[in-house]
Amino acid sequence: MASMKHRVATLGSHSALQILKGAKDEGFETIAICEKKATRPYKSFGVADEIIELDSFKDFAMIEQTLIDKNAILIPHGSLVAYLGPSKIGELKVPHFGTKGILKWEADRNKQREWLHSAGLKLPRLFANAEDIDRPVIVKFHGARGGRGYFLARTPEEFKKKLAAHDTGEGYAIQEYVVGVPVYAHYFYSPLAEEIEIMGFDKRYESNADSIGRVAAADQITVDLSTSYTVVGNVPIVIRESLLPMMFDIGESVIKESQKIEPPGLMGAFCLEGVVTSELEFYVFEISARIVAGTNPYVDGSPYTALKYKEPMSTGRRIAREIKRAIETNALDKILH
Ligand code: ADP
Repeated sequence: MASMKHRVATLGSHSALQILKGAKDEGFETIAICEKKATRPYKSFGVADEIIELDSFKDFAMIEQTLIDKNAILIPHGSLVAYLGPSKIGELKVPHFGTKGILKWEADRNKQREWLHSAGLKLPRLFANAEDIDRPVIVKFHGARGGRGYFLARTPEEFKKKLAAHDTGEGYAIQEYVVGVPVYAHYFYSPLAEEIEIMGFDKRYESNADSIGRVAAADQITVDLSTSYTVVGNVPIVIRESLLPMMFDIGESVIKESQKIEPPGLMGAFCLEGVVTSELEFYVFEISARIVAGTNPYVDGSPYTALKYKEPMSTGRRIAREIKRAIETNALDKILH
């Protein structure tokens, strides 16, 4: 079978267990590129036919030729983007699933906003000038990992006071704080079938944001709690069925817009991350232009993929299936960019 000649490779982190398991289920041999300290899960769970060890992901360039020699197709995920960055990814020679150029748009908050805005999505308002703050806002520092130091304010005065207490000289964005529940929508766009699929939904489990409700407001003040959003895990959710038509529509507009701004456009897995209000409006504050870790609860498929597929279909497996179809129909040039 043609697909046996190609291998599926990814960095051992983020959503690699799911990607590699999915690739094996579709008949591929798999390669996990691991940091030495983190090989154990990839061995223990038996998802990798081969493990290539590195001291650090930063040394990725050292093994790129090996991957090419092994006829590997590299699957991008959050850790690849975090460790290599969009410009190094842009220079990769090893075949890469999806459009590398679109990762530049994901990496830059302003470009993201331009893309999502042109696609007609509802976005939280941005305040260029603190004097204009007339509603709750969340202040996000550019370099902050896990939302550490982000704070809320409701007036220009409150903003100034809190900024003075937090300021590390870093840049920040003042964004309207949307009151609602977080929803992360997982999609797959098939460039071969030219079809968008909903793969599932999740919310993040964040420390300490998700435990603050466990102590009374008076105690929160006593211990001087400030909120952080360090992701610890992901919780599956199923959304109201009446929200699904809108979810399909916005996913599709994001794809169409991506084809204009960065041809051939976004393909494969992606995620729209936002908040659904009590008026059932979905405000999107971020896009991930590749598989997200929020799909990890669905190694065996989600309620949505169970509707569409006869077998368990994770997002990782869906990626491998697209590659398999491309190989079978001699259309790899449509999915590797
Ligand atoms: P980072 O990507 O820097 O970790 P996010 O932008 O995802 O941070 O924000 C961290 C968390 O803050 C989100 O998971 C969400 O719960 C909350 N959040 C972010 N932006 C908004 C917003 N505009 N309105 C309401 N909640 C928000």
